Amino acid sequence: LSVTAKRLAARGDEDAGVLLLVHDVTALTYAQRERERFTAMASHELKHPLTVMIGNAELALELDDLTPRTRERFESIIAASDRMLTMTESLVTTSRRGFGGRDEVDDIDLRLIVLDSVASFRATAASADIAIDVRADEPLPIAADGFRMRQVVDNIVSNAIKYTQSDGEVRIRAAVDGGSVVLTVADTGIGIDPDDLPRVLTPYFRAAEAKEKAGGTGLGLGISNDIVQAHGGTLSLESEAGAGTTVTVRLPLAETPRAADDTHRRDP
Ligand code: ADP
Repeated sequence: LSVTAKRLAARGDEDAGVLLLVHDVTALTYAQRERERFTAMASHELKHPLTVMIGNAELALELDDLTPRTRERFESIIAASDRMLTMTESLVTTSRRGFGGRDEVDDIDLRLIVLDSVASFRATAASADIAIDVRADEPLPIAADGFRMRQVVDNIVSNAIKYTQSDGEVRIRAAVDGGSVVLTVADTGIGIDPDDLPRVLTPYFRAAEAKEKAGGTGLGLGISNDIVQAHGGTLSLESEAGAGTTVTVRLPLAETPRAADDTHRRDP
């Protein structure tokens, strides 16, 4: 039971009273406990197959007759499975705290995250006949949780590829703009109906056209928005149905003049 007491103000000769509010929160507590139990179980069950995948991909890397391309594919499988393993391990804390937080904040370069993320999607895009054009030429220092930021970039780039037909293009730009770091991911895909646009950040919402085109949970964009906001940034979408979508992420630029100087020296 949850009990709240409030003293009522006395008026004239009337007696002052006390207001007691008694809520039965049994169902709420039960639901919360069930959710935590379920996530703990799911996290535990997912860990095993992931470990098997990583182990086997690592063993395959030891084979002698691998071409550089095959080697790259295995390394990409290992990197992605590793990230999934970390996410799986953080599921339990995440279910308590909500998905879009930030844990460890470091001085990081968003440029490297963008380039790494794009590299991991090259094969998927190529097999769908989608061109990726990426330009990120300068260091993009931000104070952020690198793991969460990778999740944001992965979600946005993966959506751009997923919701674009073959022969389309995904154009990614990342640059400093005044006191901000700005990332834009523009695609020539199915776009979003103006009626649906305000709802795409709502958990589980998926537009009818999106459901037809590809599978999904309707969670990625909302989680990304929460993560970006937890870092003091903004995520916005512009879209035209049938023509394409542009997602823009704006984050505060970190004040790291020394890091910028170092990069300058290495890259004259
Ligand atoms: P999911 O992709 O799993 O459905 P998201 O939360 O990432 O979930 O996106 C929510 C919805 O927003 C999608 O189902 C789709 O309707 C729309 N959406 C997101 N990104 C794009 C995009 N690049 N092009 C078209 N629609 C998009």
